[in-house]
Amino acid sequence: MSGLTLQNVTKQFGTFTAVKNVQLTVPHGTFVCLLGPSGCGKTTLMRMVAGLDLPTSGEIRLDDRDITHVPTHKRDLGMVFQSLALFPHLTVGENIAYSLRIRGVGKEEQKKRVDELLSMIHLSGYADRPVAKLSGGQRQRVAIARALAISPKLFLLDEPLSALDAKLREAMQVELRQLQQRLGITTIVVTHDQREAMTMADTVVVMSGGEIRQAAPPVEIYRRPADTFVADFIGMTNLIDFSADATSASVLGAPVSGLAIPSGLTSGILSVRPEDVRLTAPGNGAITGTVTFVRDLGGTVETFVEAGGKQIVAVSMPNARPDVSVGQSVGIQLDPADCVVLKS
Ligand code: ATP
Repeated sequence: MSGLTLQNVTKQFGTFTAVKNVQLTVPHGTFVCLLGPSGCGKTTLMRMVAGLDLPTSGEIRLDDRDITHVPTHKRDLGMVFQSLALFPHLTVGENIAYSLRIRGVGKEEQKKRVDELLSMIHLSGYADRPVAKLSGGQRQRVAIARALAISPKLFLLDEPLSALDAKLREAMQVELRQLQQRLGITTIVVTHDQREAMTMADTVVVMSGGEIRQAAPPVEIYRRPADTFVADFIGMTNLIDFSADATSASVLGAPVSGLAIPSGLTSGILSVRPEDVRLTAPGNGAITGTVTFVRDLGGTVETFVEAGGKQIVAVSMPNARPDVSVGQSVGIQLDPADCVVLKS
């Protein structure tokens, strides 16, 4: 199987397990984002893929070759880490050509490749510029080009955009994804920014406590979270307790039929995205609640409703804004197709 495979990879620091038994396949040419809160083990996992740390146990394979113990410089990697570490005294061209030069690539060939890469990162004509005279976004692109100069098999980036301001960061996310698609290079990015992960990845790998909670395409992660951690970590959601018997489920004191509840499960949690919560007139068997707050953000309107001691958030577009005000009693309608049934 071509691409990267991690088999039962574990990393312990003393008695502390930073990465637990990770199984992951990154098919050739795909883009994977490792996403999770601070300390969840993303960087440790990436460092093992890079060969900067050795797993305590488990195996790492690249294109069907066991690379677990292969030193970094023999792994065929391109790496960009948060601290870009461009050589400040060299020009843009010299930075990009660096790894070609130490591999003994000839001057002509180096120049050709640098020109190719500069055009790829939209910086043609910048070869002779000192890197100190570049903007943050330009430096980022040079770091990317430098990592790609040797046409690596695997491209690894750890929080590559975190030093950039929000606007530039968003633009670079799109650029990086387009570049990856053009080159068809297998890429892994570490980020703690879910929007960044959702923008770029074919597969988002959500980690917590050193373990993979879910690895799936962005939309699936959002629409079908595997557990309450993923549901809560990705975007906004309502986590609502339910109880069930063989025939019906009770949610916040009202019956909800049609939920896909696994047999034997008598209670659990529904994850319902705010945009899937419909507010109606009370009655007709709907869950009943009271509006506590309305937040109009311009692009969306958030309505907060208290029901059965729980706060439920409904989001709508301004043109479908519910006609409600604080203190008003409302009905909450849930479409079973939009409810993800999770274990408590
Ligand atoms: P962040 O987003 O903050 O960078 P992360 O998800 O990348 O976090 P890691 O850097 O992989 O997390 O760290 C995972 C856990 O392992 C943390 O609890 C960290 O303190 C611990 N850890 C990492 N490196 C070492 C080390 N060399 N020695 C001891 N503990 C370590």
